[in-house]
Amino acid sequence: TNSASAQIGVTGLAVMGANLARNLAHHGYTVAVHNRSIEKTDKLLDEHGDEGSFVRAETMEELVAALEKPRRVLIMVKAGEPTDAVIDSLVPLMESGDVIIDGGNARFTDTIRREADLKEKGLNFVGAGVSGGEEGALNGPSIMPGGSTEAYESLGPMLEKISAQVDGTPCCVHIGPDGAGHFVKMVHNGIEYADMQLIGEAYHLLRTGLGKSPAEVAEVFTSWNTGELESYLVEITAQVLAQVDHTTGEPMVDVIKDAAEQKGTGRWTVQSALDLGVPVSGIAEAVFARALSGHTEQRAAVQGMSGGSTSWSVEDAERFTEDVRQALYASKVVAYAQGFDQIAAGSAEHDWDVDLGDMAMIWRGGCIIRATFLDRIKEAYDADERPVSLIVAPFFAEVVEQAQDSWRRVVVTATQAGIPIPGFASALSYYDALRAERLPAALTQGLRDFFGAHTYERVDAEGDFHTLWGEDG
Ligand code: NAP
Repeated sequence: TNSASAQIGVTGLAVMGANLARNLAHHGYTVAVHNRSIEKTDKLLDEHGDEGSFVRAETMEELVAALEKPRRVLIMVKAGEPTDAVIDSLVPLMESGDVIIDGGNARFTDTIRREADLKEKGLNFVGAGVSGGEEGALNGPSIMPGGSTEAYESLGPMLEKISAQVDGTPCCVHIGPDGAGHFVKMVHNGIEYADMQLIGEAYHLLRTGLGKSPAEVAEVFTSWNTGELESYLVEITAQVLAQVDHTTGEPMVDVIKDAAEQKGTGRWTVQSALDLGVPVSGIAEAVFARALSGHTEQRAAVQGMSGGSTSWSVEDAERFTEDVRQALYASKVVAYAQGFDQIAAGSAEHDWDVDLGDMAMIWRGGCIIRATFLDRIKEAYDADERPVSLIVAPFFAEVVEQAQDSWRRVVVTATQAGIPIPGFASALSYYDALRAERLPAALTQGLRDFFGAHTYERVDAEGDFHTLWGEDG
């Protein structure tokens, strides 16, 4: 192919970059491809070079020289320092108006910093969250791009074309300025953590409590996937549970070590939520549950300790299974409500003006948390008056209220049996706390005033008050 003929360049051709490059080529774009080590570039071109129009670039100079102006380069390398190194090598080769896109899992604060740096140099920087794993990257991911309007005008149409499409609508929208896209991607991952934890708890109850085999629990999840819970994660839960280990013939889930790992986006979500003061208890419980599972020494030490007179009181397995389904649904609504609260708070803090309904819309396809009920979330946030919490939006209020008895039975039954359910229990407590007319926070304020003269407000008068505690009147 001739020089300066490619519409976009991709640098970083591991699974994600290679698949995004192919996706772009499948949509008719000429894609210049580059990787630090040439082996990945040649592997991509050997195996898939005939799928579309590619330009092989051995060096960064060749990559940039192959691009039409304004140039667009998508970086798909390991997040963190490697991204900065690639940006540094690109900058001297680019000129005003060109666009650099970081599609890696960058921390949103890094994206804010990089965008500001590049803006000073006259370059557009887009931090784009990409969800959907390698399959999504190839066939249509959910894309969350943040950056200037000018940058989105140059890039948006391409991203919208290669993203997943649901009902003819792309799962890609301009999220907002600078770090907005990576922030939203971060919260997406946090919600993913919460969702997976709740699914794990449901499985644990059916398995340990009801004594179902993994294959039987797989059947339950398959049936749940035909109803309100229909989602990618519920679907693949059934597949993972049905899998048999070829070496031992045992259920795969019994062969896998029960220590969950994490790459960090869940942790970042909770750290950011702490800064913003948004209670994302569902996500936090999920992050901590993974951490706890990895503390093997403590687990071994506590394993033999008594749980008291635990008992399993369920008589009607079918009804309990339905209770668990409802508890899962209601807890999931809480987790999403909290995640959307965090997006709203982050958007307000950084003046991003993120449209919450749009977020639900672009998560309907391509990404890991894609689910039927995102349509309902979109409706809830598109209403004339935005609900103060997803929980009070009419559709979800009904879901949560209707689940009450089931949800409570599940929490009581699990607690009685000694089965840990941090996600279900904390979601229910969150709901009960919001529901409560009075909270013990009044006592907290009294204590703070007692020991630190921190003052408190009164229910019956304006202003800040301090009491000389212990004195009469
Ligand atoms: P990865 O394993 O995260 O990164 C490998 C790529 O980074 C290789 O192309 C490697 O080049 C390059 N690289 C590493 N250090 C470099 C440096 N200092 N300078 C230049 N290039 C460097 O690849 P990935 O799994 O495809 O992910 C790419 C990005 O997408 C990451 O930020 C990841 O977090 C994000 N992401 C991944 C997924 C997923 O499902 N995997 C989903 C969404 C987002 P060499 O070949 O020369 O080593």
